[in-house]
Amino acid sequence: MDEKFEPVMGLEVHIELSTMSKMFCGCASDHFGKPPNTQVCPVCLGMPGSLPFPNLEAVKDVIKLGLSVNSSISRFSKFDRKHYFYPDLPKGYQISQYDLPLCSGGHIILRSGKKINIRRIHIEEDTAKLLHVSNDEESYSLIDFNRSGVALCEMVTEPDFNRVEEVVEFLKEVQLIVRYLGISSADMEKGSMRLEANLSVRRVGEVGLPDYKVELKNINSFRFLDKALRYEIERQIRILKDKEKVIQETRGYDQSKGVTFSQRSKEEEMDYRYFPEPDIPPMVFDDKFISGIVRELPELPYAKRDRYLSDYGLPSNYVEVLVSEPERAAFFEHAVRLDSRYKVGVKTIANLIVNKDFDRKYPSPESFMKKILDLMKKEYASGDLTSKAVREVISENIKAVEDYNKGKGEVVGFLIGQVQKKLRGKGDPALILQQLNNALKVKGKL
Ligand code: ADP
Ligand code: ZN
Ligand code: MG
Repeated sequence: MDEKFEPVMGLEVHIELSTMSKMFCGCASDHFGKPPNTQVCPVCLGMPGSLPFPNLEAVKDVIKLGLSVNSSISRFSKFDRKHYFYPDLPKGYQISQYDLPLCSGGHIILRSGKKINIRRIHIEEDTAKLLHVSNDEESYSLIDFNRSGVALCEMVTEPDFNRVEEVVEFLKEVQLIVRYLGISSADMEKGSMRLEANLSVRRVGEVGLPDYKVELKNINSFRFLDKALRYEIERQIRILKDKEKVIQETRGYDQSKGVTFSQRSKEEEMDYRYFPEPDIPPMVFDDKFISGIVRELPELPYAKRDRYLSDYGLPSNYVEVLVSEPERAAFFEHAVRLDSRYKVGVKTIANLIVNKDFDRKYPSPESFMKKILDLMKKEYASGDLTSKAVREVISENIKAVEDYNKGKGEVVGFLIGQVQKKLRGKGDPALILQQLNNALKVKGKL
């Protein structure tokens, strides 16, 4: 019998916040491409006696994200120490949040209508970066502490995903929301968005969660995400079809080989010995603080999609491209505002952005709109062709001209239509009207 299996997946997404300074000290956060160990201080190097001081901007950023995905925001929250011993963690513990995260619950609704539930969003500090060097003569590791202590936000979802496409769509939406909020570049390739995928497989029709899960690490692009998940799903299905048990473990993804490999099994799992961070008092937020953050929220991609669909009647694939980057949506909206003057139409504006990337080719919405006008003029029939068509229409429609002379102004509309017909719709409406008016005045005098 050919049994059908389906994956069950949940995500842990880390987003590095683009605050000016790190989570608990004044060092600059922007470490990408900086010379190693140039943005460090006693706090982020974990020196004994140094005191962490929480970054309010980072806390607000995480609350913004929570509000944007329907989380409830905790009025009382605190930091906890998560202990483990590894060279990337100079203090021997990471300041994170355990039982009282900033945001609890929440969800994102996929295009299919499926709801993916979010369990929590909390704040923590990033670790240092290790660089492993190995050649014929020697093998050693280097540590760059520039990233140590950078504000990091972690979002944990429920195991609600059953298709790889759902995971990809969810992550792209989180990335987009984060970019609209302006709280991170959320770039997978640069490591400002990182994720761990938890994955198990069950028989189609089963409802409960499988009694194991495999945690998949080192996925650093959307391309590899898709490949790694599909590989791991197939691997687990093969094991189940062979009537064997999948081992609960942490696996890494090898990009060059396109396979996942075991990193650490359940037996080696760590006890983090969480306890409250004694150096930082708990945080208490009142309604005024939260509503102040609500007021700072921009219009988010899902609201924009609805508005573009209902207000402009654009096709949904166009809407998707227009909201796909905050800068692009802003450019489009600015151009639409200018259109009250230019009158080229929202559909034309959308078309040139979606199909021709015109927003990238023109420095401002103003220059873009002027260009559209030029293009439309170029497509119009020439002045000579237009006046020839006007003359012909006048002589072929003596009756209509007489009606006009008797005061029936509305025949002008009919005559314009006749001229456009001769010009195959390529006439410049303003020019046709002007020439018709001139011709009719002359006729009237005869
Ligand atoms: P742990 O206690 O090991 O941290 P959790 O239950 O807290 O495990 O879940 C951690 C992550 O694993 C979450 O993203 C969750 O959605 C996911 N997860 C939990 N159980 C499963 C499962 N059976 N299959 C796939 N993912 C799972
Ligand atoms: Zn520092
Ligand atoms: Mg974490």
